[in-house]
Amino acid sequence: METRLINLYTLQLIDSHLDELEYFKGDLPQLVRELTEKVDNLKKRISEKEQEIKNLQLKSDEADLEMITLAEKIEKYKKQLFQVKTNKQYDALTIEIDNAEKNIEELTRQIVIYEGNIQNAKNDLESFKKELSELEEELGEKREELAKISKENEEEELMYKHKREKILVKISKADLALYEKIRKAKDGKAVVGIKKNSCGGCFNTVPIQKLVELRQNKKIFTCEQCGRILVSDFIVDESKKII
Ligand SMILES: [Zn+2]
Repeated sequence: METRLINLYTLQLIDSHLDELEYFKGDLPQLVRELTEKVDNLKKRISEKEQEIKNLQLKSDEADLEMITLAEKIEKYKKQLFQVKTNKQYDALTIEIDNAEKNIEELTRQIVIYEGNIQNAKNDLESFKKELSELEEELGEKREELAKISKENEEEELMYKHKREKILVKISKADLALYEKIRKAKDGKAVVGIKKNSCGGCFNTVPIQKLVELRQNKKIFTCEQCGRILVSDFIVDESKKII
């Protein structure tokens, strides 16, 4: 019976290690995926912002060019003013000059707005780029960590899987079925030690009489509260020696 209990607890230790390895693996890939997504989104926003700046710059340049053309026209009209022969021609030219000047005023106003927008877009771009470099750094670190853990895990996992196979052949089908059933229902922990006279799984106090019997290691005892298999310190220590 003692060996039977030791084997069950050893299996539990091995499975707990494998669970832990699985947990580490499960967490980092998720993190790397999330960070990659964030980086991709930010890159997209950066390229959109760059396009926005280009478009604004283009519009501002166009307005600039239009202003130059208008200024040239004004110069031309002003020269023509000296050559006109009728009042009607003079008035027509004056109206042209007025209109061109109004357009220049409007364009000047627009250029100020474009420049303000360009500056804002450039500020946004700068903060996006800063954020991107921080995210990329974090992503690089997490990727490295994951690669390292995966490699370390690989060796450890193989080792524990090998140990598991070796211990499985020593456990009866009935014991294994019981173990798997409890393990599935109780968050991976089917066999637990006694901690301060309580169940190591749910911390329910174990009656003294039961503790005395349990320490004789002659029978499979389960916790009245959670149903996990309870083992004595002796079984715990012996199992740890094996693993
Ligand atoms: Zn319990």
